[in-house]
Amino acid sequence: MSQELFKNDIVKKIVEKSRVIWALDVSDSLMGWDIEVSMPQEGAMERGMARAELQAIGQSILKSPELRSLVEEAEKRIEELNDYERGLIRVLKRRIKIATAIPEDLLKEYFKTTSEATIQWRIARSKSDYGIFKPYLEKIVDLMKKFAEYLGYEEHPYDALLDLHEEGFKTRDADRIFNVLEPGIRRTLSVIQIKGLYKPEHELEKVEYNVEDMKNLNLELLKIFEYPLGVRSRFDVSTHPFTTSMGIRDVRITTRYEGKDFKRSMYSTIHEYGHALYELQIDERLSGTLLATGVSGGMHESQSRFWENIIGRSRVFAEAIYPIIKKHLKFVEKYTPEELYYYFNTVKPSLIRVDADEVTYNLHILLRYKLEKAMITGDVKIGELPEVWNSEIERLIGVRPKSDSEGVLQDIHWSSGLGSFCNYTIGNIIAAQIRKHMMKKIKIDEEIMKLNFKPIREYLKEKVHIWGSTYEPKELLKRSFNEEMNPIYLLEYLEEKYLKV
Ligand code: MG
Repeated sequence: MSQELFKNDIVKKIVEKSRVIWALDVSDSLMGWDIEVSMPQEGAMERGMARAELQAIGQSILKSPELRSLVEEAEKRIEELNDYERGLIRVLKRRIKIATAIPEDLLKEYFKTTSEATIQWRIARSKSDYGIFKPYLEKIVDLMKKFAEYLGYEEHPYDALLDLHEEGFKTRDADRIFNVLEPGIRRTLSVIQIKGLYKPEHELEKVEYNVEDMKNLNLELLKIFEYPLGVRSRFDVSTHPFTTSMGIRDVRITTRYEGKDFKRSMYSTIHEYGHALYELQIDERLSGTLLATGVSGGMHESQSRFWENIIGRSRVFAEAIYPIIKKHLKFVEKYTPEELYYYFNTVKPSLIRVDADEVTYNLHILLRYKLEKAMITGDVKIGELPEVWNSEIERLIGVRPKSDSEGVLQDIHWSSGLGSFCNYTIGNIIAAQIRKHMMKKIKIDEEIMKLNFKPIREYLKEKVHIWGSTYEPKELLKRSFNEEMNPIYLLEYLEEKYLKV
């Protein structure tokens, strides 16, 4: 299989040596899937121990002089290597660097602090009392500053943290993106609100459904998308929907059933399908190597949001799947496809990120980005955070939190560190960018109307999926679309959809 792509003798040795790391990744994913989907409640502690033991094996292999010298050897001949071989060396170097940069004592302190912080965050949020969480966040920010120093950076300490979540993404990139997005999104939002173009809520949000009916609707949508259920994939239920893969022939998604407001379950399913498709369409010849997975969180999110928003929330999709929805959910009969479209696309400045619509979503990320950067540079004191949060979100979306749980305490993310939020906006931007390029080749609306998604899947495969992690995100964009990440496409998409009604 992989021999066809990896020809260099040293790289072949590296493929063999690193296969155990791949196998440990697979085991960890499978154990993670099991925790969310089927593990009995009391299994958590032993499962945690088992995972930590296996992770330690992976770390020691990454740190081993043997593997490192092979990688160094391959690097000396980098000019002779093909793109796949270079990709493998890049991915491995990055993992070795992350495994070796942080001293073990510091890493232990990090795990101890963050597991306590997660518990304290839950208590703080339920009591809406930031004071409970504050000392933990202070420790975590200190740890993050130390991490940045050990990992190293060229321009900004926050770059080191961003890079952990999105390879090659820098503070400079984030500033460039948000400087364009902020005024554009706020302009669009205010026009929608002044003209009343989209409703803030819809009565279907309160309508209850039968879980079995909803499941059948989700299954039929997955069938239309040609999700290879049972053959190379699964579809289960979990509290927080997610996607995981145990190789490119075993990709699994979950959804959840809240019992009302059926779009929630439907869009969770479509979102995770987008993630799954990325993994399913990776070049089979990469199977069993460290390149056989999506290249980054941001690129992955671009795929899920492409299916969820660009396709799933389009007017034509609402029209095309209307008969299917009506078949499974009888109460939809009294609504027109047009009304369904407005139910799918409410616009309401919400204080809670996870409830935010397409228009306001990235303003929530901007807020978190600004605050994280300021925490790292010391421009904002941890004690002032709730006040700064409240003023800034009010400035951005016009609503002010009445409590810490509606503000600074709403996300779990900071109890395990900083740097992950930008991935969501990266995903939204790249999804809109791909749409624009795809439109030159495919009549997207016509294909959606026919429920023929094959040309769309093929396009995504050729431009993004097939490469796995061969190219780093910035290079993949350059190669496939001949340009860098460009936030203008997202603004244009939002204006087209929300203002030209
Ligand atoms: Mg996602």
